[in-house]
Amino acid sequence: MSHLMNTYARLPVAFTHGNGAWLVAEDGTEYLDALAGIAVNGLGHAHPKLVAALAEQVGRLIHVSNVYRIVEQERLADRLCELTGMDEVFFANSGSEANEGALKLVRMFGHKHGNPEAQTIVMEHAWHGRTLATLAATGSDKARKGFDPLPSGFIRVPYNDLAAVQRVAAAEPRVQAVWLEVLQGEGGIRVADAEYLRALRRLCDERGWLLMVDEVQCGIGRTGKWFGYQWAGIQPDVITLAKGLGSGVPIGAVLAGGAARGTFGPGNHGTTFGGNPLACRAGLETLRLIEEEGLIDNAAAMGSRIRAGFAAALKRVPGVVAIRGQGLMIGIELDRPCGDLVRQALASRLLINVTQERVIRLLPPLVISAHEADEIVARLAPLVRAFVAAPEQRAA
Ligand code: PLP
Repeated sequence: MSHLMNTYARLPVAFTHGNGAWLVAEDGTEYLDALAGIAVNGLGHAHPKLVAALAEQVGRLIHVSNVYRIVEQERLADRLCELTGMDEVFFANSGSEANEGALKLVRMFGHKHGNPEAQTIVMEHAWHGRTLATLAATGSDKARKGFDPLPSGFIRVPYNDLAAVQRVAAAEPRVQAVWLEVLQGEGGIRVADAEYLRALRRLCDERGWLLMVDEVQCGIGRTGKWFGYQWAGIQPDVITLAKGLGSGVPIGAVLAGGAARGTFGPGNHGTTFGGNPLACRAGLETLRLIEEEGLIDNAAAMGSRIRAGFAAALKRVPGVVAIRGQGLMIGIELDRPCGDLVRQALASRLLINVTQERVIRLLPPLVISAHEADEIVARLAPLVRAFVAAPEQRAA
């Protein structure tokens, strides 16, 4: 009997080590990693420069406390603000926790601006985390089921639908923020239109609302820009980050700028571990290596290559509804549930994921080479073709 709480239907494989885009299992089998720990290991596995920096940091200082100055934290905040044009950063330990911080910020902002019942507009199919507040904001009935009562203060609208947000604006005076992923990951690799995002920015300016973007999955170079919102040329008021920021060392961040700047004061928010020297060194080294190795351009190029590869290999294959994404966030939507493909890919020594039941999700490391990109297509496309051709898989 396992003593692990039964929260995951785990695949029957355990890895002992990795190298770049490859993971090695206990029995020595090598797997091509097209998931990167769900958008975490942007630098791939065991990047030698990251390993050296972390080893040096571990040998010197892992943790102190946020009651002291932390130089690595100050440097990482400076770098993140340089990259985003934001003004200040709070460091947390995960995406959910960064998002909790952002939600607390909206509430505090409302209280300070005469709106003590601040409401946040959130999206259908959004994914913001599994703590109570982030779960309330998450647009998955399956994830929320059984956890009522959840915190209130959210108004849900369809994604990419400006008119829906405008209707809420007309009807609900307590709105204080709009919160979205500019590219929904768990929601099925859906990219928001740039014009929609620009219109949201204008609406937020007109209304005095905060525009908040959850870049936990799509940030840190994955879409082919440092941050997904940069494709639309907008400037958010609040940005949350996690996943790719620490290359696997847990770290999350809430960035605030513009009107949101200065919302929190001493005592309003805090954390024991968040932003400790080890986590921030991981963040600094990750950002440095992404830049040094040109990994953002690589993400854009390899993403296009993989999408083009699938477009050619799955051309006119009935059952393949769409191939979409941005950079190295890639979705292949089928017309039927396809969770079983995850196991089939594993048997072909390829690590993938399926979300929204019928969308194959690929999130390879940013270091992926052209050869490895082609190998993802070569391993997966035949499985997809066979899957949609198999009579027992035909959609009802
Ligand atoms: N926000 C987004 C967009 C995510 O994709 C996720 C996780 O998948 C989260 C938040 C939650 O992050 P974490 O699992 O680190 O709490």
